[in-house]
This record gives sequence, C-alpha cells and structure tokens, in this order.
Amino acid sequence: MRTQNTLTGRVVAPWNPAYDVSRVDYNARFAPFFPDYIVYAEAIGDVVRALTWASHHHIEFRIRSGGHSYEAYSLLNRGLVIDVSALNSIHREESTGLWHMGPGATLLDVYQTLWNQAHMTIPGGSCPTVGLSGLTLGGGFGLISRQFGLSIDALAQVQMVDARGQTLYASRQVHPELFWALRGAGANNFGVITELTFQAFPVSTVSIFAIHWQWARLPGVLQAFQDWADPQGLNRGLTAILTLASKASGRVSLVGQFLGLKDALGPLLTPLMQIPGRTDYTVQEMSYLEAVRHFAGVASRPSFWLAQGVADHDVFKNTSAYIYEKFSDPAIRALVAALSDTPGPACLVQLGIMGGRIADIRPDATAFYHRRARSDLQYQAYWTQPHQARSHIRWVENFRRAMQPWTVGAYVNYCDGSIADWADAYYGNNLSRLLTVKRQWDPENLFRYPQGLSELTGPGFCLRHSLAECSPVTSSPPCSPHSWSVDTLW
Ligand SMILES: Cc1cc2nc3c(=O)[nH]c(=O)nc-3n(C[C@H](O)[C@H](O)[C@H](O)COP(=O)(O)OP(=O)(O)OC[C@H]3O[C@@H](n4cnc5c(N)ncnc54)[C@H](O)[C@@H]3O)c2cc1C
Repeated sequence: MRTQNTLTGRVVAPWNPAYDVSRVDYNARFAPFFPDYIVYAEAIGDVVRALTWASHHHIEFRIRSGGHSYEAYSLLNRGLVIDVSALNSIHREESTGLWHMGPGATLLDVYQTLWNQAHMTIPGGSCPTVGLSGLTLGGGFGLISRQFGLSIDALAQVQMVDARGQTLYASRQVHPELFWALRGAGANNFGVITELTFQAFPVSTVSIFAIHWQWARLPGVLQAFQDWADPQGLNRGLTAILTLASKASGRVSLVGQFLGLKDALGPLLTPLMQIPGRTDYTVQEMSYLEAVRHFAGVASRPSFWLAQGVADHDVFKNTSAYIYEKFSDPAIRALVAALSDTPGPACLVQLGIMGGRIADIRPDATAFYHRRARSDLQYQAYWTQPHQARSHIRWVENFRRAMQPWTVGAYVNYCDGSIADWADAYYGNNLSRLLTVKRQWDPENLFRYPQGLSELTGPGFCLRHSLAECSPVTSSPPCSPHSWSVDTLW
C-alpha cells in the first residue's frame, strides 16, 4: 500500500478506524498519544521510506516493536511512529545454526518456535508480549541469564537501517563499535533494527519452585537470601527472583528456576528452607517451554505473572537500581519502612540474582555496564483508578531515592523519566564511548527520544555533572565554558 507519496507499509492516520488501538502502548498509565501517522512496516523498504520521509520533512519519529517501554518512549504526539511489530519472522540458517529473527517477534513466539523446532532457546525476559528488539537492545535479563548471559550476549549480528536510510549489518567483525553500542544502548539511538541474529542454546527439563514466608520475617528472609544468592558461588543453572511486597499485601516470596531435575535442586535450596517463617513451598519438574509459559502467565494451570508479581498489570510506575554490595541493616530497615507505608497493596520490590555468565563478561565489553552487580532491583506500583496515580508514582520515586545510599545506577529497559542522572545511571563508564559512536552514526540526531543519547550530544551538555545538576544557570560552582561542549573533552 502506498500513501502520502512516500510512506509505505500499513499506514494508519487519525481518520482510520485502527488509529485508536495503534496509538497506545502497554503501560496504560499514559493518555493516548496523537501521532500524525503510524507506519506498520511490512518489509525493510517500508522502514527505509519512513526514515527518509521523516528526515526529508524534518518530522520527529519514534520506533516501536512490542510497545512495552515503561515510559511509552515508543510513542509521541505529532510526528511518526515506525512500528516494526509485523517484521516478526523467525528462521534458522542451516549452514551456521544461527537464528534470524524479526525485530517485532514477541518473546513467547521466540521461545515457542525455538523449542518446537529444535529444543533450543535464547536468554531473555519472561513477559510473553515484550518485543524482541526492545528487550535485546537494552540488555535482556531472564531466568537463564546466569547460565547463558543476557540476550545481547547471544547476539551474533544485527541488521539496521541507519540515519542515511542505508541498510547495513553490524557484528564483532563488521562495524564493531556500532555493534558494541547496540548491545545495551541500541534502542532508538543509532538506527532502526530490522533483524537480529542469535546463537541459541539447547534446553530440556527444568525444575521451578516457589517459597513463601510471613511478611513479618522479611528482614531475616532478605538477610538469608543475600547470603544464599552469592552471584558467583550459586549454581549457574539456578536463578530466583525475590518479591518483597507491601505490608498490606503481606507477601514475601521467592520464585525461581533450575536448569536440571528436582533431585539436584533440593540440596541447593536447603539454606532457604531453614529460614524461619516459611508458609508454603512448591517444586515442580517440567519441560523448558512449560516453565516459560508458566512464568509468562499463559500456562493452562493457574500461574503467576513473574514479570510483575501482580495480576493487574497494565497501569503502573516501575523503576530500577542495582545492588553491588549486600544490603546492610540500615538498608534493610529503609526497605521495610517503605514497604510498610504504601499508597495501596500492589506496591513491591523485586530482586533478581545476577552474576554467573552475566558477570564473566567485562562491563566495557558491550554497552551494558552493570554486569558486576549482585542483583537488579525493580521498584513497582500498580493501581486501577486515575486518582491513585500520583501517590503511587511518588511512592516509587521516593522508594528509589531512599535506597540510593545502598544502590547504584538503573537498567535502561526499566526506564524511568524521573531519574535526573539517567545517562550515568544507565551507562556508567560506558557513556563517553557511546556518545562518540552516536556522533559517528547519527551526527544530525535524527534518532531521538526523551532519554536518548541525542539529548546529550547537543550544545551545552556537560559530561562532568548529572543532567539535573548542570545547566549554565544553576551549576554551582558554575561549569567552566570548557566543560560545556562534549567535543572539547576529546
Ligand atoms: C510486563 C513487562 C515485563 C518485562 N520483563 C522483562 C524481563 O523479564 N527482562 C528484561 O530484561 N526486561 C523486561 N521488561 C522490560 C523490557 O525489556 C523493556 O520494556 C523493552 O524495552 C520493551 O521492548 P518492546 O519492544 O516491547 O517496547 P517498545 O516500547 O516497542 O520499545 C522499547 C524501546 O526500544 C526502542 N526500539 C524498539 N524496537 C526498536 C528497533 N527495532 N530499533 C531501534 N529501537 C527500537 C523503542 O523506540 C523504545 O525506545 C519487561 C517489561 C514489561 C512491560
């Protein structure tokens, strides 16, 4: 289909019946956006034409695959949305054994296809409808990451349409700096990713488990969990997520997966079984795909939406940080205080164990910086009524702030528009190198969004300070003019 002379693919405009469903992302916290057009690319040529059209007419655009950006960064008002969700093919190249996947493939499709065709998988998240490219370009954690690494660690090559509208490949051999940057900071910073090529890993039977404790035992559970979840000492086939929910909900639970049989898992869990206050414990053996479906909340048996720990999931504010050192007593007290005083019951924090294969790789080997953290932390609040939004958002922001003395950084895939020093938080010491790659591949800042590298490469950005602290007017002491241009720092 051709329309507006140059936009091709399935083009949705405000007067089309499909417009209303096309202009919302997964997080229903946001009012509907009003883009001028949404292009559902049906082939790479549609992406090329959309980019060329936007560039020619100086029209701002966003890229969308699964639409799960926590801050709806894949949408905008006015302008163009380039939606790649229809580019979702998955096939195996027989000669290399590598898997070529469309950027719009959803995670459940990926896991089901690889399992059904080859009993294989790639490391990735647990939400069934998250888009493969959005997940991978920021890193991609999941329940087998301690064994096989992040999604980016299994990535062999990407195909991308760049700012000039050229289609190219990046890998360790071809455009290695670009490939470095795409693995951790690739979302809407350098180009539109039109294919991802992965190495997959064999999987078979797994054991999944859940342990629940009384809420009053939270401090003891957290202490013991930290001792047990030693990122390097713990068996790599074992991963778990600790959910510490509000006092009002009364839930303290550990849910996990082991790449092996129940008999081998039992002894690994012994230290956890000795923690006082346990109310329930289950362990089940099943195929890898059954476990994927269980954690995705789509199994036939009643199951648990692991990603978020609550059933009502579509209106939320989440944010993140990393733990590099075990939480001390004051940190645990601050955590208990926040969970004891919540605006509603569906407020929680989740700790996922890192280490293993994730930490084998150096923090500067890809743009994903926080490889040496013990755990990632995800602060979460869910609500149903519009008037509850403010208090829940404030609770999440305050909770993250209260824990800052004991935490570091944030995960770009759990993006949060309220983090003032977001660039440092997401990219740590990799930031300067990323800005160099950005200036090389997108010198005109065609690819932009509110937390994009574009926002750091314009005039006036100071690498010495966080964005909140530094402006020519408010910096104290004032920045020297020298520090105000990124160019002068090289
Ligand atoms: C319910 C839920 C569960 C989650 N679970 C996990 C988890 O287990 N592990 C984990 O690591 N993360 C998890 N996430 C976070 C998830 O990885 C991010 O939200 C991810 O960015 C979503 O990707 P998407 O394609 O669905 O979203 P989108 O909103 O479509 O895209 C996200 C970002 O990527 C950019 N982008 C998308 N496609 C492309 C492309 N082809 N080229 C260039 N830029 C592109 C967009 O512009 C946007 O900035 C979860 C999120 C949700 C909502």
